Amino acid sequence: MTTFVIVGGDAAGMSAASKAKRDDPDLDVVVFEKGEWVSYGACGLPYYIKGEIQSLEDLVSVTPEEFREQRDIDLRTSHEVVDIDPDDGTVTARSHGDETVQPYDRLLIATGSEAIEPPIDGTDAEGVYTLGSMTDGKDLREFVARSRETSPSEQPDSGPACQHLERCRGPVGIVGGGYIGVEMAEALAANDFEVHLFQRGDRILKGFSAATSDAVAEHLETRGVSVYLNAEVESLAGSDRVEAILTADGRVPVEMVLLGTGVRPRTALAERAGIELGPTGAIAADEYRETNFEGVYAAGDCAESEHVVTGEPAYVPLALTANRHGRAIGRTVAGTPTEGGGVAGTAAVKAFDIEAARTGITDHEEAREAGFDPVTETIEAKSRAGYYPEGGTVGVTLTADRGSGRLLGGSLVSEYGEGAVHRSHALVGAVTEGVTLAALSNYDLAYAPPFNTTWDPVLTAAKVLDGTL
Ligand SMILES: Cc1cc2nc3c(=O)[nH]c(=O)nc-3n(C[C@H](O)[C@H](O)[C@H](O)COP(=O)(O)OP(=O)(O)OC[C@H]3O[C@@H](n4cnc5c(N)ncnc54)[C@H](O)[C@@H]3O)c2cc1C
Repeated sequence: MTTFVIVGGDAAGMSAASKAKRDDPDLDVVVFEKGEWVSYGACGLPYYIKGEIQSLEDLVSVTPEEFREQRDIDLRTSHEVVDIDPDDGTVTARSHGDETVQPYDRLLIATGSEAIEPPIDGTDAEGVYTLGSMTDGKDLREFVARSRETSPSEQPDSGPACQHLERCRGPVGIVGGGYIGVEMAEALAANDFEVHLFQRGDRILKGFSAATSDAVAEHLETRGVSVYLNAEVESLAGSDRVEAILTADGRVPVEMVLLGTGVRPRTALAERAGIELGPTGAIAADEYRETNFEGVYAAGDCAESEHVVTGEPAYVPLALTANRHGRAIGRTVAGTPTEGGGVAGTAAVKAFDIEAARTGITDHEEAREAGFDPVTETIEAKSRAGYYPEGGTVGVTLTADRGSGRLLGGSLVSEYGEGAVHRSHALVGAVTEGVTLAALSNYDLAYAPPFNTTWDPVLTAAKVLDGTL
């Protein structure tokens, strides 16, 4: 019997396990997960902390019992893999002081990513959090619940977030204006905290276009979140508990700090085994997600992927890639060699009543490095027919290569529910297939007044940028 061993029991690992077992029930599939949770949706944590999702269990798509009993997968939680020996074909797992040596025929490394703790003083004080795991989510929700009961600053009108509220909590600080920082700004402000968001660059949501980032930042401000741009946090002050955030411009008192300064691939275990990393610092893998060792695969947040626009390795740690690559490896191991596919860097974010999406290459420097001559245009258009009773505005930024007219990337923003994210899917198709603006502007997109204008904003943007070229 072939034994397929998987290290890591979340999106990539459990997708691979389930697919392999479904396609070849005779496979012996063994999953080691160092924590207690498997197949959980970390993406839902901000909404759990906000209070929109009541229980952590609601974020779990398949329980450990279901994996074991219904899918016949040998799932071992609380088992940390501490060593991989690719020459012997074994992994060593540790659980409550006991060690198990498990032989494998095929191995998947799906160890995910870990939060980057920025090199600033004071991050080990009490009241400083990161948000990478279910446990982090639980801790943050408990902080919110505790503050509800005890916050000393619970006074009316004590800060900008409180202007429309009867009561206010906080203040709290978020370091980093990426999507987790932005989602958490909403989650905390919705719980009446006075939220201060610090971003060291000149805009939040760096991977999106400047127009999108500015629109989201302005919206956060209108909802009472104080957004500090070009504000590098120098240290966190406080004796045992965090008390303030210090930047070159001053000191902002806080009762809690969330560090949202990005993630890095969790590669230490693979590196010790001689598994090669790529130029991004994540595990290198070919189109079948196989590493430099035959029969050893890598998927999800610990691995890099090929970018569909540049053809170069890229590190885009997001959920669909983890699921897709895990599933492809499951098929391959079960006997049908399957490519994992590339990444376009597609991402979406919501903050209060605004939504945004991005795909492909929008940054000019990045585009030039890949050999393109980038040109960008931004348009604003109505989200629905002008005469239709509801509607808003969609901002579309497109970037294309001057020489070939090829669409390189796009970024969209609209009021929540006005379609920025769903519209981005047309751009993903165009970016992935390498189509030109002329071809995109001839796409036969659906039209009806409640959904868009005859020329959808995406088509209008393509025509405008094509005209510029
Ligand atoms: C707050 C938050 C919000 C997010 N929102 C979105 C979103 O909106 N959209 C999106 O696309 N993505 C989002 N993501 C990212 C998404 O959750 C990840 O891309 C996805 O979970 C990656 O799956 P993975 O299986 O590669 O890794 P992980 O989910 O990190 O799982 C890896 C698992 O491996 C285990 N492990 C690690 N080392 C070992 C070892 N040595 N032995 C045994 N087990 C080990 C870990 O305990 C972990 O359970 C979000 C992430 C967070 C934290």
